[in-house]
Amino acid sequence: MAVIGLDDTDSRREGMCTTYLATRLAERLEATAGSVKRLCLIRLNPAVEHKTRGNAALAVHTSVSAAEAFRLACDELESLAIETDAQTSPGLVVAPGDPDDVPEVVCEHSRRALRHKHRLSETLERIETAGYRHRGWAAEGCEITGRGRIGALAAVGAWAAFEDWTYERIAYRRFERCGTPRRVDLEAVFAAADSEYPTVWDTVDREAGSAVCVPNAPGPILYGIRGDDATAVEHVANEIAASDDTESVETQATFLTNQGTDSHLANGSIGSLRAAAGYRVDGVVSMPPETRAGGHVFYELTAPETGATVDCVAFEPTKRFRQHIRALRVGDRLTVCGEHTDGTIKLEKFAVRELNRTEQVTPECPDCGRRMKSAGRNQGYRCRDCDTAAPGKRERLVVRDLERGWYEVPPLARRHIAKPLVRGGFDAPVHPER
Ligand code: ZN
Repeated sequence: MAVIGLDDTDSRREGMCTTYLATRLAERLEATAGSVKRLCLIRLNPAVEHKTRGNAALAVHTSVSAAEAFRLACDELESLAIETDAQTSPGLVVAPGDPDDVPEVVCEHSRRALRHKHRLSETLERIETAGYRHRGWAAEGCEITGRGRIGALAAVGAWAAFEDWTYERIAYRRFERCGTPRRVDLEAVFAAADSEYPTVWDTVDREAGSAVCVPNAPGPILYGIRGDDATAVEHVANEIAASDDTESVETQATFLTNQGTDSHLANGSIGSLRAAAGYRVDGVVSMPPETRAGGHVFYELTAPETGATVDCVAFEPTKRFRQHIRALRVGDRLTVCGEHTDGTIKLEKFAVRELNRTEQVTPECPDCGRRMKSAGRNQGYRCRDCDTAAPGKRERLVVRDLERGWYEVPPLARRHIAKPLVRGGFDAPVHPER
């Protein structure tokens, strides 16, 4: 047995994609040497900026020996992934044995890869200590050779490191069609998505009327169907492929993934948040939401115990999510989730724990009903016409457009790794977007 880890073979220019390489490699392993037990698609720290879009690494679990797996993987990588895009720095790591048996130091590398930025030098030490085969490549003009080994080692350790797994069924285009507009039957997409919802999620954004499963970026993926059950995602993918209005699918593959799991989030406290890491933090709204240039909505959250503050932002592409953010008031108690960078949390979801349902208003005169006037600093209020007085402002109930529980960005704005509310397991009522 062997575990093959691959990363950083994506290229914006050439439309290559690591999942496609893993699919090709799996087909070749099965055709020549043995069986493939599973394909894993691992989303790494979404905040690490130099990485290719999506920041994914792949693992292939196979019955083939490590030596033979390494030879075949090198061959596939060299035939498909080495090209001219100076951003790519592919890496390969092959571990002998069962994926459940990788050492703890490798599991820890996998877990940290979701919330930290590993260095290549320390990664190579771990690979050497574990005795794994590895190789790195560099496109012409790329300064670092085989940086992809950071993600590749994370993919090797992922099976033992993580507990929550979801599925993605990926349908690939015929390679010569890559770069041309995708032809996918949207009616079939919406019908198939409805037939398996909520086991299959984030296929479409019903409110926006868009097919989230069809990527915009160039590359060989025609669509990817995500969910909690392998049979259900395959059913939806087949329904779409069966339509005459969908272009012909070259091949399909099912991946186990950490997508939709929130495994990039850790509990944190305002005032001690690291940069480029995902968090779940509690706080009280201390500055009201404000829509700024570009349509991004900001507010300030404070930890009442320490007085430390952090800005929270719902970016314009999160669309209707911003309505919930604009409905927040100073005094609302929340839990917010998202990536923290430069003193700002980019919101992915939040929970309303307690709403501030009152406001202080100037009292009205009990005789004439008109609003009283201030009687001077700390003198209360009075009505000059009726000679009535009140000691101070009075409290009034405010109607709120929010309820207790979790709110999230819509499917079209979801990060790969963020957990949709419809998957369940949250600590309060949920208000899922679909
Ligand atoms: Zn009056």
